[in-house]
Amino acid sequence: MGEKKDLNKIQFFYLTEIIRGICITSVHFFKNFALHILHLFGVAKDKKAMVTYQYPEEKREITRRARTRHRIMKREDGSPRCVACMMCETVCPARCIYIVAKEVESPEIEKAPEIFEIDTAKCIYCGYCVEACPEDAIRMDTFILDTASYKRDSMLLTLEDLLNHSNEEDLYEINYMKK
Ligand code: SF4
Ligand code: SF4
Repeated sequence: MGEKKDLNKIQFFYLTEIIRGICITSVHFFKNFALHILHLFGVAKDKKAMVTYQYPEEKREITRRARTRHRIMKREDGSPRCVACMMCETVCPARCIYIVAKEVESPEIEKAPEIFEIDTAKCIYCGYCVEACPEDAIRMDTFILDTASYKRDSMLLTLEDLLNHSNEEDLYEINYMKK
């Protein structure tokens, strides 16, 4: 590790850094401004100018591997694929998954979730829950990104919410690009 250097008086007040920051911002601003003007006249089209995406009206393409809001998958008979093994709840570093299991009468599975909630206000979208699931029951591919809310309660996803998009294909087109 490098040695910690004492700041001199100018550095102490961050004066040079503030001036340097203003210079960098100004250079980018005027360069961009000039490029946009030139593009209007059909000049220097090969040089890309920076743009601001007018989200949500204008959507930026995102990778299809992006982790977005969760969903719980269903079996062919329509029941949740989740077997309430609690692996996702255990691995979740944000402690935002809450599951209550119930016994089920089935020769294939022992349990199913009675309650399955994810508090997206706490979720850090790490994807550990998806990695830990032995049943491929939970996925983060809904391409729902607008999860912000003024009320914390409305950011809590219930089992019903999570089953909303099960078994749908190409949610990138449905939920993201066409919305
Ligand atoms: S993405 Fe990470 S933080 Fe969010 S629910 Fe899954 S494990 Fe928890
Ligand atoms: S890890 Fe999968 S099967 Fe286990 S409780 Fe979580 S979603 Fe259900």
